[in-house]
Amino acid sequence: MSGPYFIEGCGECMSETPILRDTVRSTGRSALQKNIQAALALSGAIRSTLGPKGLDKLLIDDDGRTLVTNDGVTVLETAKVEHPVAKMMINASSTQDKIAKDGTTTTVILAAEMLQNAWQLILQGIHPSTIARGFRKAEQFVLTKIDEISFGVEERLCKNVVKTSLAGKGYQSMQNTIAEISLEAVKMVFEGDGVKIDPTKIKIISQTGGKVDDSRVMRGFVLAKKRISANMPKEIKNGKIMLLDGGLENRSMKSDLKLNVTDVGVLESFRKKEREMLFAQINHMESLGVNVLACREGIDDDVKKHLEGCGIQAFRRVSNSDLDLLSKACNATMVGSIISTGRDSLGSFNISKNINLDGKDFWVVESEGKAATIIAKGSTTDIIGEVERCFDDSLGVSIQLIENKTVLCGGGASYVALARRLRRFAETMPGREQLAVEAYADAIEVVVRVLAENAGIDPISSLLSVVAEQINAKSDRIGINLDTGNAEDMGDLGVLEPVGIVKQAIIGATEVSISVLRIDDVLWAKQDIQIPDLAQDGM
Ligand code: ADP
Ligand code: MG
Repeated sequence: MSGPYFIEGCGECMSETPILRDTVRSTGRSALQKNIQAALALSGAIRSTLGPKGLDKLLIDDDGRTLVTNDGVTVLETAKVEHPVAKMMINASSTQDKIAKDGTTTTVILAAEMLQNAWQLILQGIHPSTIARGFRKAEQFVLTKIDEISFGVEERLCKNVVKTSLAGKGYQSMQNTIAEISLEAVKMVFEGDGVKIDPTKIKIISQTGGKVDDSRVMRGFVLAKKRISANMPKEIKNGKIMLLDGGLENRSMKSDLKLNVTDVGVLESFRKKEREMLFAQINHMESLGVNVLACREGIDDDVKKHLEGCGIQAFRRVSNSDLDLLSKACNATMVGSIISTGRDSLGSFNISKNINLDGKDFWVVESEGKAATIIAKGSTTDIIGEVERCFDDSLGVSIQLIENKTVLCGGGASYVALARRLRRFAETMPGREQLAVEAYADAIEVVVRVLAENAGIDPISSLLSVVAEQINAKSDRIGINLDTGNAEDMGDLGVLEPVGIVKQAIIGATEVSISVLRIDDVLWAKQDIQIPDLAQDGM
């Protein structure tokens, strides 16, 4: 846009009435340079967390709360970032987290490297649109080649794939436990080939105390709840469940009303009537054949006995989210009033039992609708937080893997294999886009360099040895062994990742780098901090 609408005093102003008052503007090359610098700064902040030898970040918020994490997206989402391009990068990482659950750091590092290489071309006089077009062609080419170099993974190696996604998080045996549990949980809710796995069918309960290795998975929905009375049945098989959006309590006065009691019996009969109404509700439940009752609110002690008498297993103060899960698993409808409820609102279950694990009470519900619950343990709240994030990632990866067992070799192997193909593809392209495709190839190799850097190995020689070894061995599986610094077959080392993660990282990084290249004008509204002038108000 060039025209009469520019800011006062910017030199380009041709209008008498400037419209963009109080706006700071940077255009063209200087805008792009600043944007790329912002992208590089952001990627610099999380670069050191990449890979199994990546280090952790300690985050401290305004209130002094601390968080230790190795998770790229967690660092980015917690950071207070002002720059719009940095925000675009964070969005790309969050999208990666939503779609693929893993590869969040990789996406940001790839995007920043693409932009850095683009900048070198811009300095040589190549137009950003030409680079953007080249990048798009490179991306399309890479996506088709990914399918060529990917392969099916055997069942016994699935754990390795999930473990790769936990690289750098926690310690070895913790990764093992989390990978095993996640895979088992996903298998419990898997309905068969071609059916999408519903991640909400897996619930995580976190508990402090105990080691991460003591975490476990159980079939069905597990709630950290105890039935309201030990006299109620402990275990019921093949029964009906009612989910009540309310409670079985004597009502408290809603309005500030005064009752003038003239007779000692009045209040008593008032209470008696109320109790009778509660009993009537319980009798209605019995007539419907309800075996288990879960209430969002409380259950008064004086109706407990009546419920016991009807053989109903009852739970009070069940959270909304748990009631939602139960409703899905048992195919029950949440009801607002017991009296007007019919049989069709009830759900069914196979088992509803109360158990005690390591001194804690749990309620387990198994039904036709498959479900699994992970009980995650960690010794402190800091650890349990990171354990939860690990489960979140590894469940996402396990779901992708159980749905589609196609994988790629990690340790940078697939990125180098793709870059080699891209360079050959670039040679066939006439025109300046060829340079952009080459720049893109150089950019995706950054993964090997950063993995090596974080392991204290020379990044350039690592990359060169991986490239040379891939060509000599005619293998796309050679990546960098971060323990020895040698170029080795990543399949043999069990460093494998689901194809979806790499694809999404490529798509996300290309998208954000092209968006940044297309910006040639940044307009910042000047923000005045409004400080009330207290003196003027006479205070
Ligand atoms: P992201 O947030 O991008 O997933 P990670 O810190 O999880 O970042 O690191 C992922 C990268 O680490 C992937 O490129 C993966 O191939 C690599 N990686 C994981 N384990 C190993 C290993 N044992 N050896 C070499 N590379 C590994
Ligand atoms: Mg990862």
